Amino acid sequence: MKIKSFWKFWAALALAALLGIALAGCGGESSKTNGNGGKSAETDALEAIKQRGKLIVGVKYDLNLFGLKNPETGEVEGFDIDIAKGLAKKILGDENKIELKEVTSKTRIPMLNNGEIDAIIATMTITEERKKEVDFSDVYFMAGQSLLVKKDSKINSVKDLKKGMTVLTAKGSTSAQNIRKAAPDVNVLEFENYAEAFTALRSGQGDALTTDNALLMGMAKQDPNYRVLDETFTEEPYGIAVRKGNTELLQVINEYLKEIRENGEYDRIYEKWIGKKPQE
Ligand code: GLU
Repeated sequence: MKIKSFWKFWAALALAALLGIALAGCGGESSKTNGNGGKSAETDALEAIKQRGKLIVGVKYDLNLFGLKNPETGEVEGFDIDIAKGLAKKILGDENKIELKEVTSKTRIPMLNNGEIDAIIATMTITEERKKEVDFSDVYFMAGQSLLVKKDSKINSVKDLKKGMTVLTAKGSTSAQNIRKAAPDVNVLEFENYAEAFTALRSGQGDALTTDNALLMGMAKQDPNYRVLDETFTEEPYGIAVRKGNTELLQVINEYLKEIRENGEYDRIYEKWIGKKPQE
C-alpha cells in the first residue's frame, strides 16, 4: 500500500540517520583513543593538539647533540629538541607548549601508534619498511651510518670488520639492520639505547659502535678517546613521523620545515648543534 511504503521509507531513513550518528560517534572516539582511522582521525590529530594546548613529542634522551637529558638541569637538549620546540610554536604559538617523552629506537613507533605521543622527532630514518607503519615528513636532516672506534684502532673502514669482531648498536635501529649486510661476519650486540651501547664500548665489550655519523660525533665529543670514521656506508635521511593518515598534522609539519629553511632558523639550529652547514 502507498501509505505503508511511505512510512517504511521514513522509518528506514530515520534508522539510517541514527546509525550514521552512532557511527560518527564511534569514529570520533576511536580516533581519540588509538589515533587510527579515516578522515575524521586526520583532522583530530591536529585538532586534539590544539584543544589540549600542548604538543607531545617523542625524543631521544641519550644522544648528545640531538636529544640529551642534562642530568644537572633535567632539561632535554639538542637538534631534535629545538626542531620540536619550533613546531610547538608553529602549531600553538608558544615553544613551551610542549611535552617531551623519552623514546628509544625500539619504542618510538609503538608509542606513536598507541597514542602516547603525537609525533616522533628522534633521529629516525625514513625507510620503506617504516612507511608501512607511520607517515613521514619531508627530510629534515641527512646522516649516514659509520663506525666509532678507539683512537688507536686499526679499523678505518667497514671493510676492516672481520670475523670474531663485535660491533655494538641499538635495538630497533636501521644501524642494526645495515651492519649485518655491510659486515655479515661480525657479531652484532644490540642494546636498549645508545647510552648503553656506548658504555659497553668503553668497558671493552666491542671493537666498534655503529650508528649514524652525526650521533657518533656526539659520542666522540663526550669521550675524546674515540674517533668517528670519515666513511659512511649508508644514507640516513631523517623524517618526523606521525600516525598514518594524520595528513593535516603532516602538512603543518612540512610547512614548518619549509619556513625554517627559508627564514634561516634551520641553519641557526644546525650551527648551534652540529656546526657550519655544508653547502647544498
Ligand atoms: N637513523 C637510524 C634509525 O632511524 C639510527 C639512529 C636511531 O636508531 O635512531 O634507526
